[in-house]
Amino acid sequence: MKVIQYSQIVEEVAKLCKTACCIVTPDMKAAFKKARENEVSPLGKDIIGKLLENAQIAETRQMAICQDTGMAVVFLDVGQDARIEGGYIEDAINEGVAKGYTESYLRKSVVNDPIFERKNTGNNTPAIINTRIVPGDKLKIKIAPKGFGSENKSILKMLVPADGLEGVKKVFLEAVKYAGPNACPPMVIGVGIGGTMDKVALLAKIAAARSADSKNVDPRYAKLEEELLELANSTGVGPQGLGGISTAVKVNVEWFPTHIAGLPVAININCHAARHADVIL
Ligand code: SF4
Repeated sequence: MKVIQYSQIVEEVAKLCKTACCIVTPDMKAAFKKARENEVSPLGKDIIGKLLENAQIAETRQMAICQDTGMAVVFLDVGQDARIEGGYIEDAINEGVAKGYTESYLRKSVVNDPIFERKNTGNNTPAIINTRIVPGDKLKIKIAPKGFGSENKSILKMLVPADGLEGVKKVFLEAVKYAGPNACPPMVIGVGIGGTMDKVALLAKIAAARSADSKNVDPRYAKLEEELLELANSTGVGPQGLGGISTAVKVNVEWFPTHIAGLPVAININCHAARHADVIL
């Protein structure tokens, strides 16, 4: 049995917060370069060029890619043979988020209560922690800070089987148009299909946090990802909503078996600051 120390998790999470917020990942840089090449709008091309320039400045100066450094969404894959020593794992994650956001001067955007008080917690905690127990003795931590310009444009619909694939595409298109310029395109769009209401939202979130150079392992869903990307880019929203064909650089789909009477669909929009960083302990 592998023993992982509480303090190690705190340190790693703090580092991941900084990395995710300040470094545009190679998959996103490559996606921007491709989009700049293909974009037909001169203004759109210029905007994507600015995103690449922004990425370079953020990396060199170790500054945030965007002022909205988001809520810290955390995905944990906990090996069933691993043991965490020194404290509760969720406390370690939150301590790491607090340390990372404070020491790296990342904006703190979390309020303590959604309705009555709305007082900033001061250290960007609590994080949103999604945990899976997996085989093995490793601990994988992935951090995907999520800004709310794009998060606010998420949509969840409980379709019925008769709605079929066309129904899914309709919801998708509705979400892209609803997001428009407010989700800071070009976006990475996460699509969840199947499961239950709660499961489909998580699937969409997992999809939105997946790399822009990944594709679904099932060829049917990989093809759907391409079709949906084409659909998003046919809306004309374009970079920063100012017109063009680069509304999204990637659509990722995650799916799960569902009930005979249902076809849940969720769309989680990620903006051009589609941030993610991970580590395996
Ligand atoms: S939607 Fe994304 S790019 Fe736009 S302000 Fe929020 S985090 Fe920044």
